[in-house]
Amino acid sequence: MPRPSPPPVVRGAQSVSHAQYQQLRRQIPWLYLPLLANVATLAASHAGMASPWLTQFIPLLLVTAAALRIAHWVRAPEAHQLSEAEAAHRIWRTQIMATAMAAAFTLWVIALDWFSDAALRGQVALALGVTLLSCMLCLMHLPRVSAMLGIAVVGPYALYCIVLFNPATILIALNIALVAGVMAKVLGQSHHMFVNLIQSQQALHEERHQASRLSDENQLLAQTDSLTGLPNRRHFFARLDACLTRRESEGRAPFCVGVIDLDRFKPINDTFGHATGDRLLNELGRRLSVFCDQTLMIARLGGDEFGILIDGNADEARERLCGLREAICAAVVIQDASLRVGCSVGLAVYPEAGSNAHALFDRSDYALYHAKSHARGECVFFSAEHEAMIRDELQMEAALRSADLEAELTLLFQPIYETRSMTLAGVEALARWHSPQLGLVMPDRLIAMAERLGVINQVTLILFAKLLAKAEQLPPTVSMSFNLSVHDVASPETIRELTRMIVASGLSPERLMFEITETTLMSDIDGARAVLEQLRALGVRIALDDFGTGYSSLGMLHQIPLDTLKVDRSFAAGMTTQSGRAMIAAIRGLAQSLSLDCVIEGIETEAQLMEASLLGCRYAQGYLLGRPAPIGSVLRGLREAAPVTLPAAERARLLPASAQLH
Ligand code: C2E
Ligand code: CA
Ligand code: CA
Repeated sequence: MPRPSPPPVVRGAQSVSHAQYQQLRRQIPWLYLPLLANVATLAASHAGMASPWLTQFIPLLLVTAAALRIAHWVRAPEAHQLSEAEAAHRIWRTQIMATAMAAAFTLWVIALDWFSDAALRGQVALALGVTLLSCMLCLMHLPRVSAMLGIAVVGPYALYCIVLFNPATILIALNIALVAGVMAKVLGQSHHMFVNLIQSQQALHEERHQASRLSDENQLLAQTDSLTGLPNRRHFFARLDACLTRRESEGRAPFCVGVIDLDRFKPINDTFGHATGDRLLNELGRRLSVFCDQTLMIARLGGDEFGILIDGNADEARERLCGLREAICAAVVIQDASLRVGCSVGLAVYPEAGSNAHALFDRSDYALYHAKSHARGECVFFSAEHEAMIRDELQMEAALRSADLEAELTLLFQPIYETRSMTLAGVEALARWHSPQLGLVMPDRLIAMAERLGVINQVTLILFAKLLAKAEQLPPTVSMSFNLSVHDVASPETIRELTRMIVASGLSPERLMFEITETTLMSDIDGARAVLEQLRALGVRIALDDFGTGYSSLGMLHQIPLDTLKVDRSFAAGMTTQSGRAMIAAIRGLAQSLSLDCVIEGIETEAQLMEASLLGCRYAQGYLLGRPAPIGSVLRGLREAAPVTLPAAERARLLPASAQLH
């Protein structure tokens, strides 16, 4: 699949020689017809009066020569098949042949006239005059040839008439000469106009050619990405449409539509600046363009995203992508810095994944989304599994749109313990959706879909109202954590409504903790800071959730008003190793130096709980301490179960390993 094609070559307007040749080609066969007719008539009328040489042999020669010339011109190539020099050469040859033929004809006519009586002399003069005038007319676009023809005919005839000294024939010769002269003049003028016309056609054509070249150049620019020199988004979709149209008419041969997204480009752009980011993209564009040919096209779709079209099935595409990915991943040196990005690719194969541009592109984008979230740096082809996921999502979308959220949403509560005293310090409210169509839906999927459909604020407010309604069942020493979505923090109306609800509930705001993730802060840190300050001013506490999984810089931590760090549960899983413990110790130290409380999530074993406690994490949450459950179960557990404590032997066994970190 080639790059944008260069402007097509526009066929040039005719030159004067070409135009003259084309006219001759059209007219010369007609020129010989009156000649043939007159030769035949004169030969017949003089039969028996002159020798057979003059009435049979020479006429036969003249007729044969004329017939050959007709045949020659009928088979002659078209003007555009000849170069200008060839056309001029043929015109020159015609000039010689026509003059020679005219001279031969005239001499023959004069010879016949010698044997004519008075009546036939008139016929001879008429034949000569008519032949001459018709020839001149046919050669009107060659005025010089036309004039020479006049001289070649009228000259010898007039001389003959003078020698014969017959006043009647002299008058006829003069008459013919006069008409030929006038004709030559008129033809000269008409030729002048003809040349002007051709030249103005040439000028017009040149102008059009320029205009078309400019418009083609503009079109090329409009289809090219200025930063990388690759085809742009518009050109990519035009080419995709063209591929599909060709498939429709020439059979459904497979081809792949892909989206390539650079990994780690954003941090480079943020750290080294946009100018460096642009240079990096420019270099990658140059590398990628090397792979483009009739069967592979790459375009920049925008940002750090590239579109790719590959002729061939999935295996062929995978093979071709190998080199291409290596080219992307190889280091780029810019101002002594060696920069490396990776790439994830999503692909959809025609016709299995779709038969129109929209479906194919959407599916390659879906495959890319999966590559990004589950197989970063890999090529993922849209599959039947993805198709099923899309169906599920559509089903879920329909269910959520028609859901009675008040009735279908509930909250479970997961306990958070203070690790030294092993007393219940708080609970985290976790959403559940009991959909009549889908059954129980876990919050990850619910929240993501609600965000996509734009109903997340409504979901949040309903859940928060349910939390407040349960508040008085919990002992006053127990705090309540509630998760906010990035869309909630970005919505002033939602924050206002949450504030109003807190004030209206009469609940002490200190008992409430809002949990936000780094994603919330990443999109608009200033906006998020203002909202969090506003909530803290009310007395509510703020926790940074899933800490350690995002990409935000640590510098951000002291820019935002926080009370607690919730260490992601992936750290608890790695806690039994030396390096895992070191990580948690470092995070706890960071939290301590920023005067933040630390909650470690995902505690599933007693050993993990022990480690968390020994490493100084003040709070812990996890299945060991309690799974998310209805408020009643949490309260029952609080009343019935003894606080979780570790056997003394276990404590002693774990102590030395953890002590090394203090
Ligand atoms: P999260 O805020 O990190 O919540 C903790 C999740 O980890 C919960 O999953 C909980 O069941 C699970 N978990 C707790 N202890 C353990 C453990 O020991 N081992 C393992 N493997 N998992 C444990 P859940 O309830 O499915 O919630 C998932 C996520 O959905 C939450 O992660 C939170 O980000 C989001 N979410 C839940 N409820 C809400 C809500 O009301 N609003 C918003 N915006 N997000 C919510
Ligand atoms: Ca949470
Ligand atoms: Ca969490």
